[in-house]
Amino acid sequence: MALNVIMMGPPGAGKGTQAGRFARERGLLKISTGDILREGINAQLPVALKAKELMDRGELVDDATMIAIVRERLMRPDAQPGFVLDGFPRTVAQAEALDRIVAERNNGPLLIVDVRVPQRELVRRLAGRLICKKCGTNAEPAKEGAPAAAACAKCGGRLVQRADDNAQVVKERLKVYERATKPLVEFYRGRPTFRIVNGAQAQERVAHELDTVIDDAAVVGATPQGTPAPVKAVASGKAAQA
Ligand code: AMP
Repeated sequence: MALNVIMMGPPGAGKGTQAGRFARERGLLKISTGDILREGINAQLPVALKAKELMDRGELVDDATMIAIVRERLMRPDAQPGFVLDGFPRTVAQAEALDRIVAERNNGPLLIVDVRVPQRELVRRLAGRLICKKCGTNAEPAKEGAPAAAACAKCGGRLVQRADDNAQVVKERLKVYERATKPLVEFYRGRPTFRIVNGAQAQERVAHELDTVIDDAAVVGATPQGTPAPVKAVASGKAAQA
């Protein structure tokens, strides 16, 4: 059965980094809708160029465009082993469309991870974030007191601030997140495959927590109707998970 993961959380929560790592380690397709749009802008694709104005203001691109992009990717053969979605869904309409696509694929349930980081920490991270102008990879944040890297570790490209990471746009993106995307937590919270991860820890600890909760959600998701395995009595008289 495929491993179908949604990495949720506000901008700056580290979703992209974790989604990339998890997808690489498990042989899954990582789909970052922000990256797809930025690549489209670099390639001068009309749909992406139309989206650019909204992105530069920190606003959301329309649901129909985003759903069409994701549907096309998810139906490709390389999505067969599963996927990690980063930056999608961002609205309830997108989440409903994703449920329909997953039902159509008929290849494993959705596992939802919400990566939580306090707002003050998000603002700090976004202000210092650099990406490679050439390949779009996020640069590793500089260790405290150390100078920031000058070039991309992957391709040697120049590191720059993302156009939408300046203080004004960050404020708008966090507002949009609160208004449009946070209600998705309510949409997913009741599902047995919904998990929360503390994103305000060292990257390796976040990675470990994520791996654990995703593997656990996958087991729960694989049981009929996603119900947890029955609890059985053990010799000591205490109850344990079967
Ligand atoms: P990200 O790299 O995920 O922070 O996305 C950058 C920008 O791309 C966002 O601020 C939006 O303008 C746009 N975008 C990316 N994904 C979506 C989505 N699922 N729905 C609407 N807009 C999106």
